[in-house]
Amino acid sequence: MNRKYRKTIIAGNFKMNMLPGELKAYAESMKALVNRPRWCETVICAPFVDLPAAIKYLNKEARISIGAQNLSEHEKGAYTGEVSGQMLRDMGGVKYVIIGHSERRQYFGETDLTVNEKVKAALACGLQPIICVGESARQREMDLTAPLINYQVRAALAGVDEKQIKSVVIAYEPIWAIGTGNTATAEQANEVNRYIRSIIRDIYGARTARATTILYGGSMNDANAFELLAQPDIDGGLIGGASLVPEKFAKIIFAANQE
Ligand code: PEP
Repeated sequence: MNRKYRKTIIAGNFKMNMLPGELKAYAESMKALVNRPRWCETVICAPFVDLPAAIKYLNKEARISIGAQNLSEHEKGAYTGEVSGQMLRDMGGVKYVIIGHSERRQYFGETDLTVNEKVKAALACGLQPIICVGESARQREMDLTAPLINYQVRAALAGVDEKQIKSVVIAYEPIWAIGTGNTATAEQANEVNRYIRSIIRDIYGARTARATTILYGGSMNDANAFELLAQPDIDGGLIGGASLVPEKFAKIIFAANQE
C-alpha cells in the first residue's frame, strides 16, 4: 500500500450469500469489531436484493460503503431480469459496482467487450467500477499472464477519459486463487499489480497511475492479508469467503493498518 498517494480499500464480495434478514446482525458484529477505521475504506458488495438492508444497516449505521456485484450495460428497456446503473444510483447509497468478476465471465458469458460497456455504463451514472482482471492457471503456465492482463485492462478502459479514471478501482484476481485457498504469493500479486499500474501509466500518465487503487483478490484471509497488504502496489483487497465472517473480515481490515 502507499497511503500517501492512493486510497486503501478493503472490499468484501458476498457473491450469492447472505440473506437480507442476516445483514442487521452482520452489521452489528462488524461495528463491534472495527468501528469506522480511518486507515481504509471498507466496502461490502452485496446481492441486489440485499442492497436496501445493506444501505440501512451497513452504510448508515456501520459506515461501510456499499457496492453491487454487477449491472446492465444498457441504460433501460426490454432486458428482463437486469438491473441498470440508474436503478442502483437511485437507491441512494450504492457507491461501487464490481465489473467483470471471473465468475461472471465464466458462468454468464461476460466478455472484455461487455465489461467495457458496463464500465462506461457505471461511470455514466456516477458509480465507481471495481474492474476485475486475472488469468487462469493454464494461462499462467503458458506465460500468458502479462499479455492477458494488458488486454483485459486496456479493453475494460477503452473510452474511459482522464477524469473518469479517477473513479475506477482495479482488482487483480487470478482465477486459480479465487475460492481455492491457493493465494498468490505476495511477490506474485505485487508483480502483476505493478504491471497493471504501468499500463495505467502508459494510458493516463504517471500521476494517475500513482493515484489509482489496485486491489488483490483470491483467497485473501486473516492469515495472509498482512503480508499481501504490505506490498507497495497492493492497495487493498477484494475478499470473498473471508468477508462473510465478521471476525475474519475485521482482521483483514486491521491488517491494512500498516505504514
Ligand atoms: C472474490 O470472489 O472476488 C474472491 C476473491 O473470493 P475468495 O476470497 O473467496 O477467493
